[in-house]
Amino acid sequence: MTVSQLYRQVRDLFRDAQIELPELDAKLLVSAALGISISDLMLRGDDPVSETKSATAKTHAEKRLAGMPVGRILGEREFYGRRFVMNPATLEPRSDTEALIDAVLALSVPTQEQLFCDLGTGTGAIAVTLLAEMKRSRMVAVDLSFEALSCASENADLHEVSDRFLPLCADYASALAGAKSGVFDWVVSNPPYIRTHDLGMLSPEVIQHDPVLALDGGVTGLDSYVRIIAQAEMLLKSGGRIALEIGFDQAGAVEKQLRHHSFGAIEIVKDLSGNDRVLLACRQ
Ligand code: GLN
Repeated sequence: MTVSQLYRQVRDLFRDAQIELPELDAKLLVSAALGISISDLMLRGDDPVSETKSATAKTHAEKRLAGMPVGRILGEREFYGRRFVMNPATLEPRSDTEALIDAVLALSVPTQEQLFCDLGTGTGAIAVTLLAEMKRSRMVAVDLSFEALSCASENADLHEVSDRFLPLCADYASALAGAKSGVFDWVVSNPPYIRTHDLGMLSPEVIQHDPVLALDGGVTGLDSYVRIIAQAEMLLKSGGRIALEIGFDQAGAVEKQLRHHSFGAIEIVKDLSGNDRVLLACRQ
């Protein structure tokens, strides 16, 4: 079998099963199984494929047909142009979250020395990307899950920012409560924000593969925001900023919490689909 034959076989299986993006998923899975880039998939279409590699591609395809997302099958995915590994304790990074990175960078000078705190870092997609983009900044990356934190540390190593990346295993900023207040320039977070009652409505790809701890925002979906905003008031310098990922219908409720805690200059940023996705605010 040749490279193109294998690709077409997997793509057709995905088309028949009405997978949303059959071409893209087949390209990602087949190229990973063969250990080549997506462009080589086309350029080296006539190369023969070994039995072992074609068996790996077929195992990947079976997992995809059983409903596992591509990122979970490969244990990694791209975020803001960089490769991030993930594990069962971490949410799969979403492209929606790239809106948070753009929003923070739009308010920053890349050479500035900023001290960030990322609450609920997961894979470290936000934390590591910001450090990679802002070469003089430093990050305290907090997660309740030790397993998630080791994944974030691996990503910090992968992108050579570990010397500016401090992982902290804690329940949000509880471990920083006794520390000197008002030292951070930024608090960033993509906390769990799905209402408990709505968890059952998430697609099987999400609810069966992303950890509930990273999704469940309590009865109102707002539990994490209430805690994070109160803690950010203590962590941030006057003039420091907060950037929060939010659910598409949560801007009003989260904005109310921010106003309640001496935050101003509130700005709502939309994602590429046009949904409210990020709230920015300034600590007064
Ligand atoms: N955006 C994610 C989803 O809807 C949820 C992420 C989160 O709760 N932080 O699948």
